[in-house]
Amino acid sequence: MKLNLKTKLIFIYIFTIALLLLINLLIVNHYTKQIYIEHEDEELVESMELCQNIYLDEIQLQNFNQLDIEMKDFNFQVQYENGKVVYSSPKIKTKKLSLKYNNVYPFFYNKKWSDGKEYRFYLDKKNISGIDIYFVTYISLTDELEFINEITVIIALLFIVSCIIIVLISVFFVNRAFTPVEKIINNISETTITNLDQKLKIESNNDILEKLFETYNYMRKRLGISFTSIKQFISDFSHEIKNPLSVIKSGIELTMKQPYIKEKEINVLQRTINEVDSINRMINEMLLLTRADADSLVLNLKKIKIKEIVEFVSDIGRIMVSEKQIEFKTENKIKNIQINIDEQKIKQIFINLLNNAVEYTQQGNITVMFQKNSDQLIFTVSDTGIGISPEELEKIFQRFYRVDKIRARENKHFGLGLSIVKTLVELHNGTISVKSEINKGTSIKISIPFF
Ligand code: ATP
Ligand code: MG
Repeated sequence: MKLNLKTKLIFIYIFTIALLLLINLLIVNHYTKQIYIEHEDEELVESMELCQNIYLDEIQLQNFNQLDIEMKDFNFQVQYENGKVVYSSPKIKTKKLSLKYNNVYPFFYNKKWSDGKEYRFYLDKKNISGIDIYFVTYISLTDELEFINEITVIIALLFIVSCIIIVLISVFFVNRAFTPVEKIINNISETTITNLDQKLKIESNNDILEKLFETYNYMRKRLGISFTSIKQFISDFSHEIKNPLSVIKSGIELTMKQPYIKEKEINVLQRTINEVDSINRMINEMLLLTRADADSLVLNLKKIKIKEIVEFVSDIGRIMVSEKQIEFKTENKIKNIQINIDEQKIKQIFINLLNNAVEYTQQGNITVMFQKNSDQLIFTVSDTGIGISPEELEKIFQRFYRVDKIRARENKHFGLGLSIVKTLVELHNGTISVKSEINKGTSIKISIPFF
């Protein structure tokens, strides 16, 4: 699973803080337990000392009745090494405590009894008159353990609540940190050649982000200057070259009419005129694209009957396929409604698409379909030609892009037809899409909203 940078950062924040929190809570939990046990141990030591003193005093006096009275509040037992119980305080009179022995005395240990409860024992050994005597006292840990369990539950709840708060805080802060970057991303996606001169407002007092904003604005400015000079250059160049080209063309036409020109020379001159015509066409197309880039290409909207467009397409389609073994047909599924479009530009779209369909189809069919849905006109131009490979499909709308460059050059194709179609469709707020399969054919679909 691939996570985006934002989600990754949120996860890192949450994981790090949650881990630190968990460690802290576990440490608190551990030390709470330890403090309680230490407290219990102090009590055990105190009662052991007290009991031992009472026992040793009273045993010397052989005063067992007094001993029981003084021991009534204690859990205290005295055993010999062989396990014989020498004395038990009144509370545990009937019990024989089974002891755990050790090398070092005194020591503490925990033990679960048959009643299922946990007890803490304190065992001491003393050698009295050459005999090892074991003194034991104990305390129930039930209340303490219950209290510690309650603390553990509270700590677990605290952890869950803290995690939820951490998630909310992380999402908030990561979103906040990314806001300026997102602003730049949105701005980049809205950037066109025409709004490069607009500055993005710097909204951050963070050093790096401020620098990013400044650099970005500087880059926009420089790009703006470069684009303006390129546009100006193309426009100046195109206008400047048009006059000499028309002078060349009229000169050649005049020469062709001279009586001394032979048939062979006329052919050469005619080919030269064709070249001049195609250069002229390219210049006009470049000018159109440059005007579109500069937003100075405007729609000349007029109400027009769909039938007229269909007729235009049928006429030019039939003329275009006349020299090939191609069957051309139009299918109109729209009633004869009136639509508000730029007639010339829509016609240009069809001319370019049909030029391609005819150029790249040797034989078969070319069909132009006219459909409509609730708010869009849909035109589809399909052919059964050579098709386009999936790798080339995304490039064919680029300016000057041709799949078969050698053949395209021979046939005077500059690779501008589809870029112009796309530009004109987008000018109508429409969309264009292509489906194609090598050696099966191509289908180009254009959707244009009603105006
Ligand atoms: P121009 O249109 O400027 O004369 P062109 O036809 O080469 O030149 P585009 O119309 O932009 O340029 O098309 C770009 C490329 O896409 C073409 O070179 C061609 O390889 C491919 N192409 C376009 N339409 C089709 C089609 N219907 N069938 C197969 N390939 C196509
Ligand atoms: Mg073309």
